[in-house]
Amino acid sequence: MLTKIGPLLLLSIMICIFFPGCKKFQKEGYMTHAGIALTFDDDRVDNWYNYLEFFDTAQVKATFYICKYNRFTADQKNKLAILQQHGHEIAYHTTNHYNMMDYVYKYHHTTDELMKNEVTDGLKMMNRDGFYPTTFAYPYGAHNAVYDKMLMRYFKSVRALNGTNDLTKSLAPTENNDLLFGLGIDKSSKRSDAVVAHVIKSAFENNNCAVFVSHDINTGGKLSVSLDRLQKIVAYSKELGMKFYSVSEISN
Ligand SMILES: [Zn+2]
Repeated sequence: MLTKIGPLLLLSIMICIFFPGCKKFQKEGYMTHAGIALTFDDDRVDNWYNYLEFFDTAQVKATFYICKYNRFTADQKNKLAILQQHGHEIAYHTTNHYNMMDYVYKYHHTTDELMKNEVTDGLKMMNRDGFYPTTFAYPYGAHNAVYDKMLMRYFKSVRALNGTNDLTKSLAPTENNDLLFGLGIDKSSKRSDAVVAHVIKSAFENNNCAVFVSHDINTGGKLSVSLDRLQKIVAYSKELGMKFYSVSEISN
């Protein structure tokens, strides 16, 4: 019996090695599944940490784009490590949160200075503490194609903001992205729950991943998303059978 199965098994393994399409097919059952990427920006780790249980209970993995890591206290670094241990992605959002376009084109720094001061030095600091960001978000969404290319040497994807009325710009394929346009869902976005639900439904219908951007959770500030909204997003996407992706999962 074994002698009959052996060659067949070997043949199917070889087909999968030599025909990339086969590998892709294997992957599709799991990965090409409509979903949501919840992303949170800046240095609000104390606030996010308070909602760890919410994420755990909802079985939601989020992506936290970190800036100003050089100013984190030991306690904040510890909270960030715990977020990471719970399966969340720790991503990068520059050192000082400058508008990267202004930094070079208005304040006349070189792009080498920009990369060192705002990206590589800070990344090294995070690496030393056990954080290895592989995805990046632009402060204020300010970017251009030259920056995108420059940053893609260090990151699998870069995330800008969807500053248009075209909500479909924030629907991404569920794999191999290098440039994403997040849709703001904080209070300042003035988007209603109905609009957010519409974007989720479009992602579901098109087998895409909706990329949302927030900052604080439930502080009531302008740059804050309410817990109620997050709960609605979770409930609706689960009702549709969608999954939650970290950004690195849908990146190149
Ligand atoms: Zn920011």
